[in-house]
Amino acid sequence: MMEELLALRADLDGVNLRLLELLAERGRLVQQVAEVKSRLGLPLYDPRREEEELARLVQVNPGPYPAEAIRAIWGEVLRASRHLLEEESPPLLVRRRPGVPDTVIRVGGVAIGGKEPVVIAGPCAVEGREQIAEVAAGLSRLGVRLLRGSAFKPRTSPYNFQGLGEEGLVWLAEAARRHGMAVVTEVIDPRDVEMVGRYADILQVGSRNMHNFALLRAVGAAGRPVLLKRGFMATVEELLYAAEYVLAGGNGQVVLCERGIRTFERWTRNTLDISAVALLKQESPLPVIVDISHAAGRKDIALPLARAALAAGADGLMVEVHPWPSLARSDAAQQLDLEEFARLLESLEYSPALP
Ligand code: PEP
Ligand code: MN
Repeated sequence: MMEELLALRADLDGVNLRLLELLAERGRLVQQVAEVKSRLGLPLYDPRREEEELARLVQVNPGPYPAEAIRAIWGEVLRASRHLLEEESPPLLVRRRPGVPDTVIRVGGVAIGGKEPVVIAGPCAVEGREQIAEVAAGLSRLGVRLLRGSAFKPRTSPYNFQGLGEEGLVWLAEAARRHGMAVVTEVIDPRDVEMVGRYADILQVGSRNMHNFALLRAVGAAGRPVLLKRGFMATVEELLYAAEYVLAGGNGQVVLCERGIRTFERWTRNTLDISAVALLKQESPLPVIVDISHAAGRKDIALPLARAALAAGADGLMVEVHPWPSLARSDAAQQLDLEEFARLLESLEYSPALP
């Protein structure tokens, strides 16, 4: 009995090898067919021919496998043959590759992605000359070198405050320059990239624009560092592909920003995705920062969120700070005042990395 089993198994092993050889022969033929087709200028993929091949095999199928099994097996064979003809796509620039060091972006006297975590702080929006001057002075006293503030606001409602436009950028740049700070500000329209780039040291692409491929291409050509925020409904992979648009455009200076994603939770505005921070650091050489303000939409948990972000490996934090948060024209509930922000930095034992 045992001998019979062993003999049958040996036969099976022999058939497997013959099948493998036949598959290899089929693969080589497919490659030759592709060469001829290329010479004749014919399309490589011919679904009708594949359909006919399959139909014929099902028709002459002697059993014992049912027709569905034959279809499934040859479906895989045909798929593998198509893969054989596809050109291998190049490895993504945004992914870690052997020998490629972590990206460090030097701006405003700090190194984003360097040894020390950086802090980007400032109001949600530039609301006036006095407001931005006041907050810039306070932040600079606390050692912050990167000043944020939007002059173009992508608001959910078209009737809400949309930002002050170029005039806001003038005041923002003026306040930053007075204290030797660098400007981080959002651009929402590809046509404005050049103009915003005249005032900004870092161009921010906001969450609602992460999938705006025209804007990604435009900032890819802008020759300025880009802070790319994760779409609030985007996966980690989609964020990396969005960054790839900028890198493929020739601009490797990209900072990724986790800013919370939409979930069923209502006690926070978004849910801070800490695993995204760890994954992005693991998969990409680009610096990663965490916006603890938009992630939570509230300020009472700013400190634990900041700690969690840094513990997960973030290269820095973005925090909304307003000189008078209760008067803010947008995101009033989440903006810290200068005192609260000073206490946050103290609790984090943040000592500014001086140039
Ligand atoms: C912002 O940082 O100003 C902002 C609008 O955030 P987000 O794009 O993440 O919503
Ligand atoms: Mn905001």
